[in-house]
Amino acid sequence: MSRVAYVNGQYLPFRAAGVHVEDRGFQFADGVYEVVYFHQGRLIDETGHLDRLERSLRELSIAEPMSRRALQAVMREIIRRNVIASGILYIQITRGVARRDHPFPVGVAPGVVMTVRRIKPTSAATVAAGVAVVSTPDIRWKRCDIKSVSLLPNVLMKQTAKQAGAYEAWMVDERGFVTEGASTNAWIVTADGELVTRETSSAILNGITRIALIALARQAGVRVVERPFTIAEAQAAKEAFLSSTTSYVLPVTRIDGHPVGDGKPGPLTLNLRQSYESTVVRGVAA
Ligand code: PMP
Repeated sequence: MSRVAYVNGQYLPFRAAGVHVEDRGFQFADGVYEVVYFHQGRLIDETGHLDRLERSLRELSIAEPMSRRALQAVMREIIRRNVIASGILYIQITRGVARRDHPFPVGVAPGVVMTVRRIKPTSAATVAAGVAVVSTPDIRWKRCDIKSVSLLPNVLMKQTAKQAGAYEAWMVDERGFVTEGASTNAWIVTADGELVTRETSSAILNGITRIALIALARQAGVRVVERPFTIAEAQAAKEAFLSSTTSYVLPVTRIDGHPVGDGKPGPLTLNLRQSYESTVVRGVAA
């Protein structure tokens, strides 16, 4: 089956799908997005993703292009048409097409694009070895709670990580605290077994996986503390990991070349990965 993309009301062959040259997403990054994982046709944490999408739209005063029910119908149809059982669904909503001028255009309908693709699950070898991260200054704007398509700083930081042979870049704010990864949330486990991740604010994106992991950890009796931590604290921590819709939970075993703990994935990290995976497989996070 060939791939299909949804663009402003039409299901198009993927190769032929495109947006107008004056789409404000293209010209100003004036838009928002979500990435939703689906497993055996079931969308994982659909409500959480749609809540966050609607919030992002509200924060930027972009109109909802259609009702939630209608959007959900398109989400299911694009998955059905692509004949993929498990993969990721990308949803992008922009302020629409208008003559290039900074202020909001009047009477313009938002643009909607959806694509679907298979993703390879993280290999067992990667999970067993853990991944490396490098630190980098957080050069982003002050509304990182909005899932905006304006990802240029994140792109630059991922490239820095890649060139350093690392999987992710952990961004550090002006006070020396880690905000989050370029496309993931950041976590550590302290010597006394506390799970630490930065509190939500406009400095980070409140990951849907982050929310699920906090709940899973608390259910398991783990003490979760939402507070900032430094790179030095993370390097000296018992365990460290990152989380996202596509990575789930990935052990971080090196930070700026320094091993974390004994340099191997930690037990709490692996337990959380397993519990999260089982919620995905059971579709209960949906
Ligand atoms: N932070 C940033 C900057 C991200 O881009 C992502 C991925 N969307 C996350 C955190 C993790 O969010 P989620 O768990 O919802 O995928």
